[in-house]
Amino acid sequence: MKSKSEKIALMKREKDFTILAHNYQTKEVQDIADFTGDSLELSRMTREIKTKKILFAGVRFMAETAKLLSPDKKVVLPVEDAGCEMADMVQLKVLERMRREHPNAAVVAYVNTTAEVKAASDICCTSSNAVKVVNSLENDEIIFLPDKNLAAFVARQTKKKIIPYNGWCYVHNQIKEEDVLNARRKHPLSKLMIHPEAPENIQLMADYVLSTGEMQRKAGEDDLDEFIVGTEEGMAYKLKKLYPGKEFHLLREDSPLTCLNMKKTRLDDVIVSLENEQYEILIDESVRKNALRAIERMLEIK
Ligand code: SF4
Repeated sequence: MKSKSEKIALMKREKDFTILAHNYQTKEVQDIADFTGDSLELSRMTREIKTKKILFAGVRFMAETAKLLSPDKKVVLPVEDAGCEMADMVQLKVLERMRREHPNAAVVAYVNTTAEVKAASDICCTSSNAVKVVNSLENDEIIFLPDKNLAAFVARQTKKKIIPYNGWCYVHNQIKEEDVLNARRKHPLSKLMIHPEAPENIQLMADYVLSTGEMQRKAGEDDLDEFIVGTEEGMAYKLKKLYPGKEFHLLREDSPLTCLNMKKTRLDDVIVSLENEQYEILIDESVRKNALRAIERMLEIK
């Protein structure tokens, strides 16, 4: 009898699928993926992928971004209600009100937003290029959404006035100073890498404030071989796999930082998704065009 991973390997070949998994997915799902990475890395990759179909193990906005960038491919999300609480915090009517209150401001949307919100924004950004994107704009005022913590990170590094939307990622926003102090006590030789979705006071306690893609690079380049990983626990698994000679500690070992939506996808969901080619991501054409414009404008910035 075949194991679940053997079954998945066979089905994806037969049905012409590539499997992409976000860095925050479970170990099992990361292990059966063709590629793992952050949301934008994976979405960009869809343009290079030869198969006609993509299974995106992640949350809905990521599969949507993949579909925006590769409209000719069939993109499926294995768990229909795998959403992102932060992406869902943005209400278009609030954004419209902010635009009215700040008529000279440009709207920068983090890629962690729905296709509708991207379509209503001027340009997208990721956690690694947010400062560059903001500085590339002519406007002196920037409405930044949805994450107030990433907005604070950007505000420290630009002369522009940042007007944050009041959103946050519940996974990173729950990090407390005590968590950092405990981790530092337990692992005094480690360097602390913190994601910019963490609160500003936590960012200021870190050795490095980095996106997951930057954590991956930093861990490889740095002479040091011990790190505390201040983001969702799945990232530590990825780093350990990539650099088996180095040590990666969870910031909170007793109660790891876990994104419940990211952990919804199980191998059984992947099997059913491949079998039924579900749940297909479909985006209204008018939304798609405007959302893609905001993403492509970002991609043009070197
Ligand atoms: S970790 Fe935070 S931003 Fe990422 S999917 Fe989960 S809730 Fe959304």
